[in-house]
Amino acid sequence: MKEVIVIGGGIIGLCTAYYLEQEGHQVTVIDQSNMDQGASYVNAGYLSPSHLIPLSAPGVMKKGLKWMFDSSSPLYIKPRFQADFLRWVWAFNRSCRQEHVDKAVPIIRDITLLSQELFDDVLNTNGFKAHREKKGLLMLCQTEKMLKEEVEVVHLGQQYGLNCKELTQEELKKLEPNANIDALGATYFECDWHTTPHEFMKDLKEHLKKKGVQILSNEKVLDVKTDGAKITAIVSEKRELKADEYVLSTGSWANLLSKKVGVRLLLEAGKGYRINSTQHTGITIPSILAERKVAITPMNGFTRFAGTMEIAGINHDINPVRVKAIANGVSEYYPDVKLTQKELSEAACGLRPVSPDGLPYIGRSSKCDNLTIATGHAMMGWSMATATGKLVQQVIDLQKPSLDLQPFNPDRKF
Ligand SMILES: Cc1cc2nc3c(=O)[nH]c(=O)nc-3n(C[C@H](O)[C@H](O)[C@H](O)COP(=O)(O)OP(=O)(O)OC[C@H]3O[C@@H](n4cnc5c(N)ncnc54)[C@H](O)[C@@H]3O)c2cc1C
Repeated sequence: MKEVIVIGGGIIGLCTAYYLEQEGHQVTVIDQSNMDQGASYVNAGYLSPSHLIPLSAPGVMKKGLKWMFDSSSPLYIKPRFQADFLRWVWAFNRSCRQEHVDKAVPIIRDITLLSQELFDDVLNTNGFKAHREKKGLLMLCQTEKMLKEEVEVVHLGQQYGLNCKELTQEELKKLEPNANIDALGATYFECDWHTTPHEFMKDLKEHLKKKGVQILSNEKVLDVKTDGAKITAIVSEKRELKADEYVLSTGSWANLLSKKVGVRLLLEAGKGYRINSTQHTGITIPSILAERKVAITPMNGFTRFAGTMEIAGINHDINPVRVKAIANGVSEYYPDVKLTQKELSEAACGLRPVSPDGLPYIGRSSKCDNLTIATGHAMMGWSMATATGKLVQQVIDLQKPSLDLQPFNPDRKF
């Protein structure tokens, strides 16, 4: 039995605590927030093996540059003369190659499929009531060009064994008979599932507390004390805490603490927004508006509309232009759905921890013997969370990992 401190109680930290507790370790989770907000609460709730292609793919940098001058674009990279940011941009640009995508696809498939399996296992083993449905994901396209691109993704998915296909208009209508959809065509990833994030987070927190995991909220970790390549203690706003092992799962903030042990993680915060609506929409299957990059999820009792990837440092400012762009996109594809001003004014945001190559950092750095890093999941943290938690536990217990950890190495070069 080891004493383990998990720094950061988002979905990655909580799943890590779950597997560590299960193996008999004494676990403390510490978080600077109230643990009811941020990326792990505002996300679209997809458990999606369909998202095989990492953000850093050919053509994305060009699109990003074009979109820099459009305040309503789905991807925005704010230029900053900051060494870490410039290094990240350089590494991101280097990753936007077909060769990298080819390598990343099977890795993303394996970790998301493992995570789906483990997600079900966590729900079933503990009798969690959190909402989860296995209804797939529609990619709705309004242009021939986009449809052609999405059909290529279907072919890729099929090549990698995923259950997915192109839909005819009739098939789309049959799947969503009560939603008026304006799309030229669609593809359908039956392999995807969806959830209501705050419900799973609640179940996990309650379960961990019941199992004796200490959860310290509203307590920021400020510093790390070391002796050679070992952490001896962490220093929070309130106290000093000691353990045998430490896990860094502070999402978009992870490089601030990793620096203290000499680990330079290339990481940028990618802000995204969500709008919730209790209006009747007729939507029963999650969909992505392919040209607009908006994700729609029928959650438990409401529909969520999520979108935007705004790389502009760590801040939680809500940009009403981008929120409005999400709502406009929704009405273009679902003409009967008009989000109200009140719904828009209640929009919330979260920060995705974005690594330059679209793969998370999971594992140990050679710089520190008793620290395991688990962050950088970008748009896929919800889909990869349970597998990440399991992998971290296997690292700490010196067990053979369920997946090859090399692609996730926090020391990897870009
Ligand atoms: C709009 C949107 C939609 C998304 N949709 C999906 C989706 O459908 N499917 C999917 O797979 N992924 C999705 N994602 C991505 C996913 O939500 C994230 O990848 C995931 O939530 C990241 O989890 P995390 O635990 O690493 O980070 P976070 O949830 O950000 O948690 C990190 C925690 O660390 C704490 N912390 C930071 N610094 C300190 C410190 N110094 N001391 C103590 N605590 C600290 C923070 O308070 C925070 O609670 C979406 C994200 C957004 C924003």
